[in-house]
Amino acid sequence: MNLSELNYFLTDNKQPNFRLKQIINAVYKENYINFNDIQVLPIDLRDKLSENFDIIPFTIDKILKSKDTLSYKALLITADNKYIETVLIAAKNNTWSACVSSQIGCKLGCKFCATGNSGFTRDLSAEEILGQVLFWKNYLSSNKLGKLTNIVYMGMGEPFLNWNNVSISLKKLIDPGLFDFSSRSISVSTSGITDGIIKLANEFDQVNLAISLHSANDETRSKLMPINHKHNLNDLKQALDYYTSKTNRKVFLEYIMLHKLTDTTEDADNLINFINSFEKKHLLHVNLISYNTTASKYKASTKDEIEKFQTYLQKNKINTTTRKSLGNEINGACGQLSGNKPKDKTD
Ligand code: SAH
Ligand code: SF4
Repeated sequence: MNLSELNYFLTDNKQPNFRLKQIINAVYKENYINFNDIQVLPIDLRDKLSENFDIIPFTIDKILKSKDTLSYKALLITADNKYIETVLIAAKNNTWSACVSSQIGCKLGCKFCATGNSGFTRDLSAEEILGQVLFWKNYLSSNKLGKLTNIVYMGMGEPFLNWNNVSISLKKLIDPGLFDFSSRSISVSTSGITDGIIKLANEFDQVNLAISLHSANDETRSKLMPINHKHNLNDLKQALDYYTSKTNRKVFLEYIMLHKLTDTTEDADNLINFINSFEKKHLLHVNLISYNTTASKYKASTKDEIEKFQTYLQKNKINTTTRKSLGNEINGACGQLSGNKPKDKTD
């Protein structure tokens, strides 16, 4: 929903000044996604608005729920008939995180990632990014499931290769007159686009940063993530040094545990050395992630291998957590968002 166009429209239609505020309140605070449901508006205006504007720029194709009801995935169809996937993940005490996509597909082709293997279609507009948030806010409130408190840019796409739209969406998310999220409840994940890391530090220094590191060895990382040829570990370190000195904020290093590829003692030593090379190493936090199966040839590390790796890191005074994988069975876990048309759907 473009607010300035909406404002022109209301003025053209001789609506009183308070209308825009009413609509903003209905959408951002009361979670309406259809003008026809906003009862404070006159009926003829609701009809006109519905004809001319969309609150969310998608039609809803499917909503999948995991058996444990702790994660949901929605397939949304854009105006140009493309599929976007967006995920909702339970946090604590009836609060939820929305995992939003920033692009349809991804150009970067990381070998372990379903999005990377499905190619790139296009960037999402800020409206399409925010539409995913409005969609989940509405879903939670109409099903009385709780409150959306966190936003993570960890769906399809590389946010820093769509900075223009991602930065507009971040501004609106933290705008007290609109979504009103605190910066600290938002996280952006990147494969390591260094100029994006600098921009985030300069423009949104309280938004959380996650780095998809996955290996601290250039050779292995380049094999897994071709972007490492362009921005290698040393470039990444420099950008992160800038980020940590500018913001003094924790950085999350996402690390997928792949059997014999990223989980050996040598891999752990590389990771420890990488982290110890930082002046502000106490700000670096490793998040060990179980590999979610995709079409790739990789094998996930076993539980024991993950535990051993974590214990070794901890002995070397590295902050680590393991991330529980949610949403696997609905292919809504990280790296499983392909944006492909569901198989039972025909044109
Ligand atoms: N392009 C950005 C944002 C996507 S976030 C980035 O790569 O950071 C998606 C997260 O899921 C990233 O940390 C990514 O590395 C991770 N991921 C991708 N494929 C995965 C898989 N098969 N199993 C577990 N995590 C995966
Ligand atoms: Fe793109 Fe991130 Fe997947 Fe890599 S991990 S292909 S950067 S979405």
